Amino acid sequence: MERFDVVVIGAGPGGYPAAIRAAQLGASVAIVERERLGGTCLNFGCIPTKTLIASAETFAHVRDAAAFGVSVSGATFDYAAMVRRKDKVVDQFRGGVKQLLTANGVKQFSGSAAFKDRETIVIDGDLTIGAKKTIIATGSTSATPGFIPLHERIVESRAFLALDRLPKSMIVLGGGFIGCEIASMAAMLGVKVVIVELLADILMLLDADLRSEVRAHMEKTLGIRVLTGAPLADIAADANGVSGRCGDETLRADLLLNAVGRRPVTEGLNLAAAGLEVDARGFIDADAYCRTKAVTIFAIGDVTGKTQLAHFATSQGLVAAENAVGSKPRRHETLVPNVIFTAPEVATVGLSESEARALERPVKTGKFRFSGLGKSLAAGETTGFVKWIADADSERLLGAAAVGPRATELIATATTAIRAEFTARELGETIHAHPTFSEAWMEAAHALRGESIHVPPRRR
Ligand SMILES: Cc1cc2nc3c(=O)[nH]c(=O)nc-3n(C[C@H](O)[C@H](O)[C@H](O)COP(=O)(O)OP(=O)(O)OC[C@H]3O[C@@H](n4cnc5c(N)ncnc54)[C@H](O)[C@@H]3O)c2cc1C
Repeated sequence: MERFDVVVIGAGPGGYPAAIRAAQLGASVAIVERERLGGTCLNFGCIPTKTLIASAETFAHVRDAAAFGVSVSGATFDYAAMVRRKDKVVDQFRGGVKQLLTANGVKQFSGSAAFKDRETIVIDGDLTIGAKKTIIATGSTSATPGFIPLHERIVESRAFLALDRLPKSMIVLGGGFIGCEIASMAAMLGVKVVIVELLADILMLLDADLRSEVRAHMEKTLGIRVLTGAPLADIAADANGVSGRCGDETLRADLLLNAVGRRPVTEGLNLAAAGLEVDARGFIDADAYCRTKAVTIFAIGDVTGKTQLAHFATSQGLVAAENAVGSKPRRHETLVPNVIFTAPEVATVGLSESEARALERPVKTGKFRFSGLGKSLAAGETTGFVKWIADADSERLLGAAAVGPRATELIATATTAIRAEFTARELGETIHAHPTFSEAWMEAAHALRGESIHVPPRRR
């Protein structure tokens, strides 16, 4: 039996960086993947959605080019070609992951891994390997509750991304980030979209001011119908289309996208043989050092039921690898940027305004709208704002949010500033290049301190 210092189960954005880091630290490492290197993120999640969104945005820019003095007549698109481009990008990236694993000496096994005991892994039931330490990185998959029938017109995100034709109309069940991102992309390409969300609003984890900005743009500019606070009942599908009842209304469309949530992947792992079990929601419990209750076994990424984002899985992966191989335990970061690629984009980091206020500590906020920036006017992208949330006394930055152009890029500045424990004053004094979208952070820091240059003072 071949033996390894570290065996990683699952080669998503949690697993493959963990394997590479363990190898960099001198360990003998194997990784077992039963589908495709890169996991959900690369093959069925982050990368394919962002590639299709880039195509949809390109179409929208060309269609709307007249506003910039550029005449383009009869702009059209070929969705099948957009999907082919998406597949090419994904293949290229997956090839890169394989090369990196190989270059770092990580042995790759293709198959389904299961525990035989705490230090033995069986692949596809016949090949057995030894593992001094194991990192479980088996991720998550779309949840398919029983009230949603099985039919080819009812798809979850992975099946949607494999379609090479867009429907004319679509019901999106679930107003979380996956549903809203795909809804935005499809609406940009002319699909008639209705989102049905059981909760009081879409993207409920966001502060109300961010939600209303995104929702208004999705409804008014993209023409998406958003129905909230009621379930979609009596879902049915046949050769002609799908239907469902929302309140008193029967909704009909060509396709239904099930975006109700994700569930952890643990089936077949035989966790009991390793002395592990899942919690009440099906996740594997891991502490801040990514340790499970079995001393030689770590768990990272979506399967741990914490923040279900690729960069969080990666940061946990590096921590787990270092803790599996090294002697000085490292905790993983708690400051995690959250990014949503809707139109407009949204991103947050640290405490939200409502979380900060719920702590009953005095807080100050400072906002700046993109419409006040020269760069936004020049680029014709004026929707949205950025916001700082700070401790009222010390003015230390506690959280930040951006909704609007490049929000998912801009959040990096805020993450760095909060991690570096900047105050609003220090941020406001930091020189930001002009004209750029990132000046909005400086302006919002000035606003927080009542020192705005580009916002008129309140009447005295
Ligand atoms: C449509 C969509 C869009 C998304 N967009 C973003 C985004 O823009 N930004 C972002 O940060 N996050 C995004 N996410 C979330 C992101 O994809 C996940 O958080 C991330 O993939 C989790 O990484 P992971 O390594 O934990 O698991 P996964 O990426 O799910 O990888 C787990 C791997 O383990 C393998 N596996 C499972 N069981 C076994 C077994 N027994 N043996 C061998 N292999 C096994 C699976 O085949 C899979 O390849 C998106 C998700 C979706 C669905």
